Amino acid sequence: MRRPFVAGNWKMFRTVAEARHLVSELVPALQMVTGVEKVICPPFTALLAVSALLEGTDIRLGAQNMYWETAGAFTGEISPGMVAELCKYVILGHSERRTYFGETDATVNRKIHAALASNLVPIVCVGETLAEYESGQTEEVVYRQIKIGLAMFELVEPNSLVIAYEPVWAIGTGRAATGEGANSVVANVIRPALKELFSADLAQAIRVLYGGSVKGDNAAEFFTQPEIDGALVGGACLKTSEFTVIVQAASRRIPRTESTIS
Ligand code: PEP
Repeated sequence: MRRPFVAGNWKMFRTVAEARHLVSELVPALQMVTGVEKVICPPFTALLAVSALLEGTDIRLGAQNMYWETAGAFTGEISPGMVAELCKYVILGHSERRTYFGETDATVNRKIHAALASNLVPIVCVGETLAEYESGQTEEVVYRQIKIGLAMFELVEPNSLVIAYEPVWAIGTGRAATGEGANSVVANVIRPALKELFSADLAQAIRVLYGGSVKGDNAAEFFTQPEIDGALVGGACLKTSEFTVIVQAASRRIPRTESTIS
């Protein structure tokens, strides 16, 4: 049973005071919506304050990145254990990390290993650039990101991993993929690659999200697709009403149980 899942990536927005204010709006609004796993991912500096505000709610906390080492002289970095003190989730391999901070499939793989070892649930982002999309390389790129990024570990519990398919050309551009297009990448590339890595059962049970310009008015288009289990939301997650509409749309999604992959 794949329970709908919506995560908000706040990126580098909101001071601690601003985060407190936003969470004070989000909690009552999101608490009204049931049947969806709800996650917010503020900047590191706001995690402690936000974790206190989320106590006793069903909204979970995620970080946007972490380093793979457990401790040491790594100025400016945050360890998996530090994240795990406050968070259940961590976004890994976001395209902005890959583009601006030199992350590769190999470094994303190290981070996934480290996150799982600290009992964090990684939300692993994959997706092709505009040039790759236009030159017909989507399948090849996404397949490689999954196969290398997720290589060399055993997964027993499907809920210990979430994948987000985020075409880079759709992130922050207002140009979302179509529901059908995104569903096709999940069905024909991501789930088959997960099946090769793990098993048919796990490939069917792992949640796969869509991300890239999801808003209140287009969310349902993705959530009515059979292979898409929710969304990773950037810009729209900073607006309480917009994010709530997205979470409500996810709550109307009927969780999938049957396999649609070969
Ligand atoms: C993201 O940052 O993961 C994202 C999907 O951003 P946006 O929703 O703004 O496109």
